[in-house]
Amino acid sequence: MEINDILQKSRDTEPFDKDELIEMLSFPPDSTESYLLMAEANRISKELTENKAEVHAQFSLNLAPCACNCSFCSFAKKYGIFEHETEISPEEAVSFAKQFERDGANAIFVMTTANYPFSKFIEVSQEIKKNLRNETTLIANIGDQSLENAKKLKQAGYAGVYHALRLREGIDTSLSPENRKKSIRNFQEVGLKVGTCVEPIGPEHTNEEIAELILFTGSFNPSYSGAARRIAIPGTEMASIGMISELRMAQIVAVTRIGIPKTVLGNCTHEPCTLGGIAGANLFWAEVGANPRDIKERTEEGRGESVESCRNIFRECGWDIWELSSRYYLS
Ligand code: SF4
Repeated sequence: MEINDILQKSRDTEPFDKDELIEMLSFPPDSTESYLLMAEANRISKELTENKAEVHAQFSLNLAPCACNCSFCSFAKKYGIFEHETEISPEEAVSFAKQFERDGANAIFVMTTANYPFSKFIEVSQEIKKNLRNETTLIANIGDQSLENAKKLKQAGYAGVYHALRLREGIDTSLSPENRKKSIRNFQEVGLKVGTCVEPIGPEHTNEEIAELILFTGSFNPSYSGAARRIAIPGTEMASIGMISELRMAQIVAVTRIGIPKTVLGNCTHEPCTLGGIAGANLFWAEVGANPRDIKERTEEGRGESVESCRNIFRECGWDIWELSSRYYLS
């Protein structure tokens, strides 16, 4: 398919199949075709959001060696990067959340490792919720959950969750792909909106695998999809495989935007960068505390961006900023 035919099909809002996505992903990242796809994705994202991007902000309730041992994660027990569990207090959690609220984050994410007790998560969440403004959007980023637990998340005041079927789930992770999908269905069944992403992309992933995951993310009407590259954690087996460039990530961000339905407003990328911001990303994340892509205990001293720095990256790309609660997580 010629690039002009792809662009015309996108403008006509016709759906793309797997082969067509593979074709888009197969252009060299530094080619005229890829830049045209980025421009088209940028056009779509700006049109859908009236040129106003969002910044969501995440903090973690704990930092712990995690027995799930996902190969791309700095918390994986097998790497021994973090040897002891630490938790923040409910007061500290409230303080992080209120700071993000003051900073103007459009949604606040509360994360834990997979082994953090669910009942404690709900207790701390209730404390956070009652200290935030009513209209502040609260999102959970935790492990797989049953329908019962999904209901409890909703009752605790969560508007939605972040949940992803990761690339090579069940191979590079010890988690079941079916459980990941089931959790997404459980969340949606109780009215929690689900944001997701094609992640964590490394140089070994084929265009076919990426295209399949793009189509999966677009299949369940998420709040947003997007694309994020794997960050090499020093000393890990994955680090020796390397990382894709920001330019390749931007190409995949663009193909994701073009490949998912236009009813999905959001398109994320992580880590925040201007190449992503001109290639159709309209959602970045700020982070404080523990971060599975960092070896620092406090990512604000490492890889983590602040709400303001994310906003500035968007402004550099010609985006304005949405100032109210997230539109992506509206039901
Ligand atoms: S990605 Fe989540 S489940 Fe996997 S090792 Fe890290 S904390 Fe555990």
